Amino acid sequence: MTHHGGKHMLIKIKLPLVSVLIMAISLIIMSTTYYFYIFNILVENEKIQINQILDMESASLKTFFDSRRLEVSYLSNDALVAKTINEYLEDTRFENPDFTPNYQLLNTYFETIKGSRSEIRDVFVLTPLGRVLASSHPDSYWLDLSDREYFKSAMEGKTTISNLLVDRVDGESVLFVATPIYSGDKQSIIGVMANIIDTRSASDNIRNLLKGHLGDAYLIDQSGMIVFHTNKEMIGTRHEIDEINQFFMNSNLSIASSDEFLLNGTTYYVAYKNVEDTPWILVLEESMDKIMASAKKVLWIMLVITSTVLVVSGLVAVKLARTLTNPLTELSHVVHQTTLGDLSIRSQYLQKNELGALSNDLNTMLDELTGAYEEVESKNEELMATEEELRINYEYLSKSQRELKILQQKYISALKGSRDVVWEWDLEKHHFFASDAWHELTGLSSYNTTIVDVAFEQILNAHEQKRILKLFKEHWKSHSNLLTFTFTYSTSLNKEMYFLVKANTLWDNKGNPIKSSGIMMDITFETETNEKLHNLAFTNQLTSLPNRVAYAYDLKNLITSQECTLTVFQMDIDNFMRINDALGHNFGDILLIALANRFKHLENENITAYHLSADEFAFILYGICKEDDITNAINELYQALSTPFVIADKSIYISLSTGISVYPNDGDTVDKLIQNADTAMFAAKKTGKSNYVYYTQFLSDSVQERMDIENLLRRAVKNNLVSMHYQAQYTASNGRLNAFEALMRITDENGKSISPAVFIPVAEETGLIIELGEWAIRDVCNSIKVLYDSGYSFEHISVNVSSIQLHQPNFDVLIDEIAKETGIQSQALEIEVTESVLLSVASQDENILTKLMAKGYKISLDDFGTGYSSFSYLRTIPLTTLKIDKTFIDNLETSKKDKELVRQMIELSHELGIKVVAEGVENSAQYQILKEKSCDYIQGYYFSKALPLDQAKLLLLEESKQ
Ligand code: C2E
Ligand code: CA
Ligand code: CA
Repeated sequence: MTHHGGKHMLIKIKLPLVSVLIMAISLIIMSTTYYFYIFNILVENEKIQINQILDMESASLKTFFDSRRLEVSYLSNDALVAKTINEYLEDTRFENPDFTPNYQLLNTYFETIKGSRSEIRDVFVLTPLGRVLASSHPDSYWLDLSDREYFKSAMEGKTTISNLLVDRVDGESVLFVATPIYSGDKQSIIGVMANIIDTRSASDNIRNLLKGHLGDAYLIDQSGMIVFHTNKEMIGTRHEIDEINQFFMNSNLSIASSDEFLLNGTTYYVAYKNVEDTPWILVLEESMDKIMASAKKVLWIMLVITSTVLVVSGLVAVKLARTLTNPLTELSHVVHQTTLGDLSIRSQYLQKNELGALSNDLNTMLDELTGAYEEVESKNEELMATEEELRINYEYLSKSQRELKILQQKYISALKGSRDVVWEWDLEKHHFFASDAWHELTGLSSYNTTIVDVAFEQILNAHEQKRILKLFKEHWKSHSNLLTFTFTYSTSLNKEMYFLVKANTLWDNKGNPIKSSGIMMDITFETETNEKLHNLAFTNQLTSLPNRVAYAYDLKNLITSQECTLTVFQMDIDNFMRINDALGHNFGDILLIALANRFKHLENENITAYHLSADEFAFILYGICKEDDITNAINELYQALSTPFVIADKSIYISLSTGISVYPNDGDTVDKLIQNADTAMFAAKKTGKSNYVYYTQFLSDSVQERMDIENLLRRAVKNNLVSMHYQAQYTASNGRLNAFEALMRITDENGKSISPAVFIPVAEETGLIIELGEWAIRDVCNSIKVLYDSGYSFEHISVNVSSIQLHQPNFDVLIDEIAKETGIQSQALEIEVTESVLLSVASQDENILTKLMAKGYKISLDDFGTGYSSFSYLRTIPLTTLKIDKTFIDNLETSKKDKELVRQMIELSHELGIKVVAEGVENSAQYQILKEKSCDYIQGYYFSKALPLDQAKLLLLEESKQ
């Protein structure tokens, strides 16, 4: 069982393991692919997004700076600004260098602007010499800014945004926007209007654009210096990562571009674009790790899903493996049990699937096996019968085995005296040598030393010489290791000797034999012993005839495909047991030996006799299968028995029953041939002893007979071969004729009458009963009419009706029609049915019997007590009469049991209002008993046989005279 367990455990584990492994690999490949795919998409999306933001933001920054320029231009045109500058220009106090002007109105105006606009840090106006004339920041009054580039270019008529500059007031890094202020006639520049852009607010602007987005955004100038940054600290510095800084310095920043940088395991994506109309470049920078983080999130989700799927599929696979292996375990358990010899076990696995079907098939197979086993057992019993014979053979065998052993020992010591010949054959010199044992074994005083063909030519006849030379030549050619052969030799005393020769050969390097040598052993003894043993196994030890084993063996060898090769007789001595019992087994044995001797005299090259078992013999006739030849042989056989055996002063005759089967018509295999001969033998025994039966004849006889009857029935009505006879029924109490039973008779054209017991079954099988039955009813009705018309009085005539007729649809209508046609009353006709009809009718409500009864016909139940009779039927089936079967009447005088049964039948019937007829009453004793038991009517040879209508009339005539 461990061996079984181990095996199914393996599948149970392997299946889920393999399926989970396969799923795991594919899921991992899938999720990895998916992860990278997602990651790439995310990265690409991000880049696209960054570039979009870059475009948008640079546009927005351009607007931002445009607005600042516009603001400052707007202010340069402001009336108050112009008025203030003009005022200053006309003010002569300025010739005094210590004079500090204070244009409070404009200062306040600028402060208001500064306060209302977050983008503007400071607003101020410069004199043509670069002095701050008015400002939103009081600390800057009269500050000299003439060295600033933005001032100089404004004075040249340009509106400029400065590079990042350090505010001289508060030290912050800031941007200036400056524009010229023109005189009223626009001919000259009278000052410069300037704003300081609040970098923080610009940075906020960028931050706003970046809202919801990760990463950095900043502005750099053409040299790579950070101009705006969300982190104020960064403004005025260079990029802290040198690679990126280098990238800015080495690129043409006026053309938008991007690149990726891998730094400390983090990928940075950097994209920049020049803000139109400004010297600045907007840079967006993003660490791709953040994107990876979301991709990693996806990966995590995938991992969770993957492992869940794996666990679930693992469980499913385990369950599946179970459902697969459990039935397999069950089946293998069943198969294992059967190998242990238990055939009663059946698989309990009955699911409706392939394994269930397999299990079912296995059960069916086991059923068949069990059946076959039983068959084998019955065969076994047959074998037991021959056991006794085998035991005798066995004793003979073991005795000779003991002898053999002793002889073997002698043989060995003889061998030691080197009875083996050692020989050598020089093929080049044509010289033969043999050791001394040659002389001892062959009895020849010398051997030829010069060779012609074969070394052994001296002791071999011509035919053997040829054979052995051929063997040698093959051996030399094939270079086989060892040549072994045997031959027979007749000594001068005409004794057969058997020799075994073993030869070895030496070849030269061209492959030609140089020398053969070896030994030659006398194996006469072994050969003869083998033959003896063979004889023991194949011979009946009592009669020395070949036994049953030899019989089957010979048949098998003799069977050929040709027609007419074999005929077998199988014979059994009639009443051999009785001879044995009466005269003793010794006598029986002697008789068998004597019989075998007579059989041996019948043997020739075509006929062999066998002794199969105690009183069974057989002949195989080879090549004899014409009927005449077989008949001759069988006649000779019986002729041999015509004279009595005389044993111990007693003279005794033996008779045989013989079965004959001919190959291949009566069996194309050994088994069939034997079996059919057996069947024929039993048929011979049945037909009377001292008889022989051909299997074919036996078969064809019965078939022919049946066909003859069938043919007769087919023409019976047409050819007037049918007639009805009438058997009278008498009232038991007064012995007066009461009614008749009509019985059918058929006589063929040769006047031979056939018993209804024979032809009724054939008529029923062929369906001819319907035609015959209808004829019978019509004939009986005619008779009733004729008899009544002639003035005879009787109760009724009953007619036998087969169940096949009763099952014809509208059978009752047919009866009615015939009654009308012939003009009889329904109560004059009784329908006689057998018990088998009851069985089929009992269950129906509106059955045919009820219908017939309702129409006034009488119903009688025939052969009561022989079939399925159950008294309970009598209560449910409509009946007028019950007929007790003849078998109960036969032993009425002697059997108490029958007497009691008959009494009960009569009593019960009377209780149910049913009349009783006793059938087959043959003597007065039976009649007296029945009368005493109140039986109503008697039918039987004691009163009358069934008679032709004319004679039945005579009975009625006599009756009427009483
Ligand atoms: P069954 O219906 O039981 O008929 C009684 C048989 O017993 C008849 O044999 C009759 O001759 C025989 N018998 C009567 N009294 C005695 C007696 O005292 N001693 C002995 N030894 N025999 C007696 P039969 O005529 O040979 O009929 C044999 C069976 O054939 C019948 O048995 C019946 O089953 C069937 N049979 C006969 N005629 C018809 C028929 O017209 N139609 C049908 N369907 N069956 C019929
Ligand atoms: Ca009958
Ligand atoms: Ca009967």
